[in-house]
Amino acid sequence: MNSRSDSSSSKVMCQMVPGLDTNEKEYILDQTFERYTSKMVKRNGKGTAIVWFRNDLRVLDNEVLFKAWVDSESVLPVYCVDPRVFQASTRYFGFPKTGGLRGQFIIECLVDLKKNLMKRGLNLLIRHGKPEEIIPTLAKDFASHAVYAQKETCSEEVNVEKLMTSHSPPTAYLMCTLSFVSLLKQNVPSEAALKFQCPSGQLPCIEDWGCVPSIEQLGLQPQEVSKGLRFLGGETAALSRVYEYFWKKDFLKIYKETRNGMLGPDYSTKFSPWLASGSLSPRFIYEEVKRYEKERLANDSTYWVLFELIWRDYFRFISVKYGNSIFHLGGPRNVERRWNQDQRLFDSWRNGCTGYPLIDANMKELSATGFMSNRGRQIVCSFLVRDMGIDWRMGAEWFETFLLDYDPCSNYGNWTYGAGVGNDPREDRYFSIPKQAQTYDPEGEYVAYWLPQLQKLPREKRNFPGKLYMEQIVPLKFGNPNGDRASAARKNSYGGRGRKTTKGYMS
Ligand SMILES: Cc1cc2nc3c(=O)[nH]c(=O)nc-3n(C[C@H](O)[C@H](O)[C@H](O)COP(=O)(O)OP(=O)(O)OC[C@H]3O[C@@H](n4cnc5c(N)ncnc54)[C@H](O)[C@@H]3O)c2cc1C
Repeated sequence: MNSRSDSSSSKVMCQMVPGLDTNEKEYILDQTFERYTSKMVKRNGKGTAIVWFRNDLRVLDNEVLFKAWVDSESVLPVYCVDPRVFQASTRYFGFPKTGGLRGQFIIECLVDLKKNLMKRGLNLLIRHGKPEEIIPTLAKDFASHAVYAQKETCSEEVNVEKLMTSHSPPTAYLMCTLSFVSLLKQNVPSEAALKFQCPSGQLPCIEDWGCVPSIEQLGLQPQEVSKGLRFLGGETAALSRVYEYFWKKDFLKIYKETRNGMLGPDYSTKFSPWLASGSLSPRFIYEEVKRYEKERLANDSTYWVLFELIWRDYFRFISVKYGNSIFHLGGPRNVERRWNQDQRLFDSWRNGCTGYPLIDANMKELSATGFMSNRGRQIVCSFLVRDMGIDWRMGAEWFETFLLDYDPCSNYGNWTYGAGVGNDPREDRYFSIPKQAQTYDPEGEYVAYWLPQLQKLPREKRNFPGKLYMEQIVPLKFGNPNGDRASAARKNSYGGRGRKTTKGYMS
């Protein structure tokens, strides 16, 4: 545990971005736009271009918006509230596809996008329904010569693109590629794509632009965050967080030492929810890291933030290369292994009642805030698949519902990786809970924060409370913190006790 997290453990709830008020955030937004705006870019198109916003809910460094603006006289930005995103269930196990916390985060992204577009003489048209029905109709009504959108890589999103682009000319469908940090070294970002000048053209004449939906209109349960981190959606908050983490608090220079923490706002960047919704561009982060290296210092930590972003790219490339296999039980390598779907074990995992404080605290954090540290995610994934032997897709779908930063490539990529079915030569990545607890939560601060009943225990006991906490649902595959020798004997079997209660194995 890093020392920076100490102060946060006493706080009940921490708003991301904590140290900045609304005026400061607006100021940072304006300053950032100023820095990255080029007055040199010429607008030379004709007619109306439609911008179909997807997971790119931002104005700055939005290639889609930029190209549409350059190639037209007027731009019509549109967002479709797609029932398949908000009201559907996950693929195999029927959890809500979008949980209330992510729904709220997206609402905030839309409110902010609309505000930032309006500041630049644009607006955001919001329509409820399927994009492949709404967008072509709008294109016809406004005689648009082109629809611009960001190209996605996973099948559900790609299918929508296919349905959309099957509509015939005169409208052209121009899909812009995602921005990849890993390609920037060879391919230095073009001026045009990074810098965006305020549009000056006319707005299409529309009477009803539609309101940003409420959480109830999305068909989702409202949920308050009363403890842990509260992320505010939108580009304004995202740019403020970059400013705060890199420049104001100067934490970028120690990121490599702190990134494995679990408690508090500043052990890692916390950029992921904004990256997933597209309210933050990875290329912008790259540019800011390079600016920091020039103006302050370059070290292992500055390098490491970009290195982590390359993981994000990597899982996107994996999704292109391996297609739908990232969602299948055997993963990209089609690994055959026996898994169980024991509901009792799974419920104990998802509800944070396994009897292992480190697992329970992480799972409680996820359902209370929509966030979990990278360290936590690896530990709970390992516990589910290795110690419980549960079908990894159940865990992945649970994450899909709850994570604010959910994106199919990173989520399923990491789960297949953790389950040993991904494109990873090491099949058996096991995270030992006692070792992880000793290394990353030696004082038991993290577990005591999420499990207040442990606060009264001596610090060294909080992660190893024995009978003072609830009974452990399964023994560990390799060793038990409370000295259960039987678990060592079972170390070569998946799931331990879970196997006896299994309803059915899958292969
Ligand atoms: C089982 C599992 C599921 C995950 N699901 C998701 C998901 O749905 N969406 C998601 O964005 N990340 C996912 N991750 C990756 C990682 O846990 C989060 O990106 C990270 O915890 C976000 O916190 P941060 O922004 O403070 O990260 P930092 O440590 O500050 O890293 C900076 C950025 O690098 C990227 N990054 C870092 N590690 C990874 C990684 N392993 N894979 C992909 N990108 C990474 C993220 O964009 C992150 O915002 C998952 C990891 C695991 C083990």
